Amino acid sequence: MLRTHTCGELTTKNINQKVTLCGWVQKSRDLGGMTFIDMRDRYGITQLVFDMETSKQLCEEARKLGREYVICATGSVEERSNKNLKIPTGEIEIIVEKLEVLNAAKLPPFTIEDNTDGGEELRMKFRYLDLRRNINKDNLLLRHKMSIEARNYLNSQQFIEIETPVLIKSTPEGARDFVVPSRMNPEKFYALPQSPQTFKQLLMIAGYDRYFQIVKCFRDEDLRADRQPEFTQIDCEMSFVTQDDILHTFEGLTKHLFKTILNVEISDFPRISYDDAMKYYGSDKPDIRFDMKFVELNQLAKNRGFNVFDQAELIVGICAKSCADYSRKQLDKLTDFVRKPQIGAKGLVYVKCNEDGSFKSSVDKFYTQEDLKLWADEFKAEPGDLLLILAGEKDANRKALSVLRLEMAEQLELKDKNTYRPLWVVDFPLLEWNEESQRYHAMHHPFTSPKEEDISKLESDPGSVRANAYDLVINGVEIGGGSVRIHNKELQNTMFKTLGFSDEDAQDQFGFLMNAFEYGAPPHAGIAFGFDRWTALFGGSESIRDYIAFPKNNMGKDVMIDSPSLISEVQLEELGLKIVKENS
Ligand code: ASP
Repeated sequence: MLRTHTCGELTTKNINQKVTLCGWVQKSRDLGGMTFIDMRDRYGITQLVFDMETSKQLCEEARKLGREYVICATGSVEERSNKNLKIPTGEIEIIVEKLEVLNAAKLPPFTIEDNTDGGEELRMKFRYLDLRRNINKDNLLLRHKMSIEARNYLNSQQFIEIETPVLIKSTPEGARDFVVPSRMNPEKFYALPQSPQTFKQLLMIAGYDRYFQIVKCFRDEDLRADRQPEFTQIDCEMSFVTQDDILHTFEGLTKHLFKTILNVEISDFPRISYDDAMKYYGSDKPDIRFDMKFVELNQLAKNRGFNVFDQAELIVGICAKSCADYSRKQLDKLTDFVRKPQIGAKGLVYVKCNEDGSFKSSVDKFYTQEDLKLWADEFKAEPGDLLLILAGEKDANRKALSVLRLEMAEQLELKDKNTYRPLWVVDFPLLEWNEESQRYHAMHHPFTSPKEEDISKLESDPGSVRANAYDLVINGVEIGGGSVRIHNKELQNTMFKTLGFSDEDAQDQFGFLMNAFEYGAPPHAGIAFGFDRWTALFGGSESIRDYIAFPKNNMGKDVMIDSPSLISEVQLEELGLKIVKENS
């Protein structure tokens, strides 16, 4: 190897040793008689010293080095007189005896520093330079550790990692597929997998009984900070298990990752039904680091002449602790907040529970102090608290209040970054009505099994059927989700029928799976975790992009390699995709 040590490991223990280091020039300082160079590699920074008096030529060579030159330096380790205790190598320096330039470098378009001067776009274009910065390096290191620990845990539990194909078949369920034209089969297309779902089920039928894969998945959806067109899942499947077994096994994985990566002990994994999650938090991924559960007021607040409440399907609120001293201005701001089009509430009713036991509300005209006292009791509010109430259509109202709940948690600083509260959301609806297509869609995917006791309602009342489906939510972030699967051909057939597939379509799209069900399919269930999201959560960020080495921007573009891009006429022709322009 060209080097004897890395730039992050030398300390006073190495004094007087002769060493050779390789790395990049982070910074150089020319102090006349002496030149100092900070040399960087992925392990750290070591200070090189060139002395004009003892080796003039070397010193002059050193002065010519530009930022980001790749160099190799040999010299002896000495104790520094001017110590920098902020870095592990800050007590030593290398008195250089030999210097070799391994490669020159152009001046980088932004500084490779923790506080860089480069904007997002520029850093994405030169991502390989951005990745030299500590923040990105630490993020990728975290990701690496997490994948190793996930593998360690799953391996210890007899899971085996099996790769499934990337060129598969397009199916209409779920998100949009990315497709790949086939040269050898003109007019035909592969699709990139949105997940290895059907393959992992086939592996269960094949008898592998505990499978996992850390795997790329592809979905052609509109992008957000926590979405990328290609992302990574920890995808798992097990045979001969109940829902409980799955939840326990993956609580094990979750505990293991928290312990080994963050040194955090997690013991509690409460469960909440989807219905309760919606009723009490207005969300299927509630953040339970803080309470502020919804309280419904239909019983107490209707029929008192206040039109808005009388006409509302649901009157529901939260209690913000110790906020009774909110000023007019703060309350107006909250009202404006909930009225924003993306939140969509018409207005906000408040009740201040004053310290003296009296109440002050925005609906004093309609309700007496006794009425408001009853409301406050319903909320278990104490003097000093503030009730914030919305009224309107049930689902929209709950959604709006859930956003307000998170906003209040932000204002009250209740989202403690160092507290982690996992939660299983269970019993999701099997189906959801889609207005556009005027039919039911699978809420999870079409292979999810209905709850035993609801199967009889599949044909008569599909909307009310609950699924053996579960999500793992941590601090309001959906980290993973899965389900017990259907393993019976007839039930799978009924499911496809409910989803509006003709027998022919079902056979055409999923015949391979339904046929496989006839050859001894074991009961099975599984889950997949969003690996990028989980890493971001552990890293304390909301943007998964920061934890992906080469992410796409929010137009789905990789600006570094300039993709997606046009392809040549020849390629198009070969693929049978030549676009014949009109009038040409
Ligand atoms: N394949 C599912 C998904 O990607 C997860 C699962 O059911 O295991 O969401």
